[in-house]
Amino acid sequence: MKSDFYKDLKIYNSLTGNKELFVPINNKIVGMYVCGPTVYNNAHLGNCRTFISFDLINRYLSHLGYKVRYVRNLTDVGHLENDDDSGEDKISKKARIEKLEPMEIVQKYTIDFHKVMEMFNTLPPNIEPTATGHIIEQIDSIKKIIKSGNAYEMNGSVYFDVLKFNEKGKYGKLSGRKVEDMMNNSRLLDGSSDKKNPQDFALWKKAEDNHIMFWNSPWGKGFPGWHLECTSMSKKYLGDYFDIHGGGMDLKFPHHDCEIAQSEAIDNKNPAKYWMHTNMLTMNGKKMSKSIDNFILPNEIFSGNNKIFSKKFSPNVVKFFMYQAHYRSVLDISEDALVASEKGLNKLFDGYNLISNLECNNKPSDFDTKGWISKCYSKINDDFNTPMLIAELFECLKFINSVKISSKNLNKTDKEKIQNTFEAFIFDILGLKKNNKGTLNHDNKSSDLIKLLIKLRNQSRANRNFELSDQIRDDLMELGIQLYDDKNESSFKIIK
Ligand code: AMP
Ligand code: ZN
Repeated sequence: MKSDFYKDLKIYNSLTGNKELFVPINNKIVGMYVCGPTVYNNAHLGNCRTFISFDLINRYLSHLGYKVRYVRNLTDVGHLENDDDSGEDKISKKARIEKLEPMEIVQKYTIDFHKVMEMFNTLPPNIEPTATGHIIEQIDSIKKIIKSGNAYEMNGSVYFDVLKFNEKGKYGKLSGRKVEDMMNNSRLLDGSSDKKNPQDFALWKKAEDNHIMFWNSPWGKGFPGWHLECTSMSKKYLGDYFDIHGGGMDLKFPHHDCEIAQSEAIDNKNPAKYWMHTNMLTMNGKKMSKSIDNFILPNEIFSGNNKIFSKKFSPNVVKFFMYQAHYRSVLDISEDALVASEKGLNKLFDGYNLISNLECNNKPSDFDTKGWISKCYSKINDDFNTPMLIAELFECLKFINSVKISSKNLNKTDKEKIQNTFEAFIFDILGLKKNNKGTLNHDNKSSDLIKLLIKLRNQSRANRNFELSDQIRDDLMELGIQLYDDKNESSFKIIK
């Protein structure tokens, strides 16, 4: 491990409702399963918030020195329109509407999802299994659940028997829902349902004649239930008991409670040690969601091609905006909030760019570098508290600016430590893109060009051609690039 900071990481466990010290099951190896998207339409910004949060978690665990196996699935069959196992399969429905093969829908939206995740500079998972690629494993899981006495077959479908399971196990561990309350509140089954009780959920659904996605099984032609894929694939790639299982808050029930019930029926084990849930991105105070037409797509924000915001925002700005809230808090997106994040991010990058040009001396620094670094880690170690971490980075910026303005002392070792810490947090852990500074598009090339102009200006000054050197300075200023002249070298800052 890189340092001792890993020892203090605390994670909020939705299963216990407590922040717990993170102690992996297998020493230095971490297994993490995150429920991925249902690839039947373009991922909206709300979906992205969840995956960006888990990207941070993956990045930070790796930064600490853990070897992370990050599994994030793609749901390409079995996710029906309604939580009570009714309605059409989301993929099949889209295929019918778009007049495409279901697998064309899957391919189209998987590619889009990957592109968006790349725009946000998130790291790909180590394994990205699909439900259709694991039908054999799912049939195998169903056989085991039937054998345990917790499932029954009815007219070619197989259902999990919630009441039976609840006699010995406990259904609803994550959400805290009680089966008795669910029974009192649920509608009676209509005559068309094969379920014994409305709480039961499908492990396998018989394919009706018009159903286009189906496979052979011991119970006839059909398709697997949505909750089952995650149980079967997490077991296959991470084993029966792994470290972290995550997803959005809205997956706690029924999806994750059903996953726990399935796993406990198979081998008596809750599959994960830590259950993590991210909170929702909202817009106008309501959950971002396609079904209520309250959403924006990432590309619509990046291109400015939308009717919601008056200007465009870069992936870096949107990501920074998300990190200014804790992953377990609701976050409401608005133009004002994005503009504020853009300003904040520009300030952060300006400060970071300044560090390499700071003058050092051999005196003790007027800044407690060691204390500051450990504060940064203590913030991220507190259940990945990114807003508090960002506040710490800004604390150091105050000092960085004071070195320049009021000649505070900074020695070389501290300067290097500050620079390395900034780089680790901004680029490796928060995963912001280098030199993609907000909307200013301050990339490598433009930075090199400015440096070239500075060099030419210095040469003309050395040749006492002050007319030209002043013109270069003034023209750059017109473009919003301010030059600072030191004894030895000149530096620049983008001011607008
Ligand atoms: P889905 O494709 O609907 O299965 O959703 C993929 C992931 O996005 C799940 O983990 C959801 O919990 C998450 N999600 C959906 N809507 C939002 C939202 N508004 N904010 C944050 N996460 C969301
Ligand atoms: Zn899942």
